[in-house]
Amino acid sequence: MGATSDSAAGAGTGPPAGDGDRRLGRRALLVGGIAAAVGTALLAREELSRSWWRLPGVDKPREAGAVDFRGARWVAASAANYRRADRPADYPVDRVVVHVTQGGYASAVRAFKDPGHGAAAHYIVRRDGRITQLVRELDVAFHAGNREYNERSVGIEHEGFVEDPASFTDALYAASARLAAAICGRYGIPVDREHIIGHAQVPGTDHTDPGRLWDWERYIRLVGAERAKTPPAR
Ligand SMILES: [Zn+2]
Repeated sequence: MGATSDSAAGAGTGPPAGDGDRRLGRRALLVGGIAAAVGTALLAREELSRSWWRLPGVDKPREAGAVDFRGARWVAASAANYRRADRPADYPVDRVVVHVTQGGYASAVRAFKDPGHGAAAHYIVRRDGRITQLVRELDVAFHAGNREYNERSVGIEHEGFVEDPASFTDALYAASARLAAAICGRYGIPVDREHIIGHAQVPGTDHTDPGRLWDWERYIRLVGAERAKTPPAR
């Protein structure tokens, strides 16, 4: 009761401090408005450059928390670390890029959720084989350090360190192979080293992952075996 009458009185009488707050609010609103207008203009230019030919309003419907790989756990990356798109309608997807996190799973998730990080992959495969999806395959994740490769690929991070052979467990290889096979099936990507590549193979990158200890022969063989279990993409 007492609290109710207190707040009612407070709302009715505006002290000078309240007036100052309001003025600050108006200015903040104005600055925010300008930022929003600039943001919209940049977005419009970006949209025009990539999909001027596309009719508006044909984006696929999205469901919050939906994943592209059955069984993956969804954790949303910061929107600053990817670009919203409508793949493969606007960009063909013809590459899988293999990465190694150079750190633990939790720190990779933290980085991808951080808007200041500037990068994220679509998936992280943990050492124990659990898979987390952070960016929808519809969208362009910033993982390869090369715009064209980002636009045309799905990025898979693997928990571990390039110089630590213990990082690459059987569970990690097996889970990643199932994931990569599903991606290859979805977009009709051939299972070979031309199309399943390491981050180090991306033109212009200075990254070395997944490194010399990553067993490519084994990985491609596993992806191929998984791919053979599922019917070809239509
Ligand atoms: Zn990488």
